[in-house]
Amino acid sequence: MIESRYASCMWSYRHEHFTVHQLPALRDNFIYLIEAYASDALVAVDPAEAVSVRRACKLLGKPLTHIINTHHHWDHTDGNTELKKNFNCRIFAYQQDASRIPGIDIKVSAATPPVIDGLHISVVEVPGHTSGHIAYVIDDALFCGDTLFGAGCGRLFEGTPAQMWQSLNKLAALPAQTKVYCAHEYTLPNLAFARVVDPDNSELDQRVVTDRQKREADEPTIPSTIGMEKATNPFLRPMNQRFCEAYAGERGIAHDALTVFTDIRLKKDHF
Ligand code: ZN
Ligand code: FE
Repeated sequence: MIESRYASCMWSYRHEHFTVHQLPALRDNFIYLIEAYASDALVAVDPAEAVSVRRACKLLGKPLTHIINTHHHWDHTDGNTELKKNFNCRIFAYQQDASRIPGIDIKVSAATPPVIDGLHISVVEVPGHTSGHIAYVIDDALFCGDTLFGAGCGRLFEGTPAQMWQSLNKLAALPAQTKVYCAHEYTLPNLAFARVVDPDNSELDQRVVTDRQKREADEPTIPSTIGMEKATNPFLRPMNQRFCEAYAGERGIAHDALTVFTDIRLKKDHF
């Protein structure tokens, strides 16, 4: 699946109607470029900065046509204004967060998703990390920003545990083979925490081996899949009742999923 015909600092994944190009940026961010097959659309997801996007556009020989943002944090929006100046591209972001998104042109929501020729995009509203966080689903690709990570989830800066739990449930309801294109490479440290919370999970043990090998080879652990996250992500594991009972028993807390999720989220903040 990983193609090497581009610069080594860019990984590319083919889907049926588009290719996703993954660009490492800043210290541990990923910027994605979605290249449609049936149109000229070249869409940047969460451009943390402009320079790596410009370089990738040059490699692809195409101008950037659109930007879609998942939330307002600077490490997801800092490239907006400069790229708009460079390419005159259109910027889409959540209507509720319009005042916090630099250069926004078109306000979107679950009811009014971005309309871009050649791509079928839907929006999932996933408050928790921020109050106005959204995710984009394009066929079998999920762009979830800082809501769901490899073996982790975003910190609760503006939302409640209950909101985040509901948001994660929306993402977990996507088909198991859905590729998870999240915005940070945090997987290995997240897995270290996951093992403490979920010590008797053989799929988790296997993932640690596989993802370590990827990092040693300087490859990203992302994308993962919804199926992989449901099996190994400690923030999705409370969807499994047996896990909840075991975890809650050990911690002496109620074994309902939200209580267990909340406890795990708090524990991670101090890990
Ligand atoms: Zn963020
Ligand atoms: Fe971020």
